[in-house]
Amino acid sequence: MSAEDLPETQGPRRGILFLLSGPAGSGKSTLLRRALNEDNNLAFSISCTTRSPREGETDGKHYHFLSDEEFSEKIENNEFLEHAKVHNWRYGTLANTVIDLLDDGKDVIMDIDVQGADQVRDSENSVISDTLVDIFLTTADTAELEKRLLGRGSEDEDTFQLRMRTAVAEIKRWRDYTYCIVSGEHDEDFRALSSIISTERLRVSRMMS
Ligand code: 5GP
Repeated sequence: MSAEDLPETQGPRRGILFLLSGPAGSGKSTLLRRALNEDNNLAFSISCTTRSPREGETDGKHYHFLSDEEFSEKIENNEFLEHAKVHNWRYGTLANTVIDLLDDGKDVIMDIDVQGADQVRDSENSVISDTLVDIFLTTADTAELEKRLLGRGSEDEDTFQLRMRTAVAEIKRWRDYTYCIVSGEHDEDFRALSSIISTERLRVSRMMS
């Protein structure tokens, strides 16, 4: 056997695109934050949005905060891998940013809604379709989701109802994903996500790209 036969000698590999969807209240943000903190080869796909920054959010770190006009311009220039309207605001992923990271061998994690996930799955770009791993995070039932959303306590009744309606519609889409994590304690969710990431990294097909 020559050295070239060994996986470690196969040269640089392309990154993996981890797509995470799940309703508000499923614990997505906490899970993502921990995964990004603990895994140096994981990069966050920073989305564009027309909503205003919340307290503690930084432009260029959590989101690229754009005006409606700026967002429309990016649609016209075909800059988005996907874009969708969620809760009355527009959200989108810049195609080049994601593709450059994947080409550099970085694994990318994106937090996008079910409409955006449909568009990414339909992408004709082979860098996207060859590397995509889609994961759904949900609570066991809508009662648990309601409990968690109410627990946040930061929303008025209308916003709460809107989020619940969107969440109930989103949960119905869990079967469209390759992996589904039913959210429990933070540690359990983290272990589940980490095992998906580790498993996908061990695929022979990814070691040969
Ligand atoms: P929030 O405003 O609470 O940060 O996010 C609201 C929803 O928008 C979440 O469900 C999140 O997954 C989704 N979202 C965030 N960025 C994107 C994006 O770039 N594209 C799409 N389609 N959805 C996104």
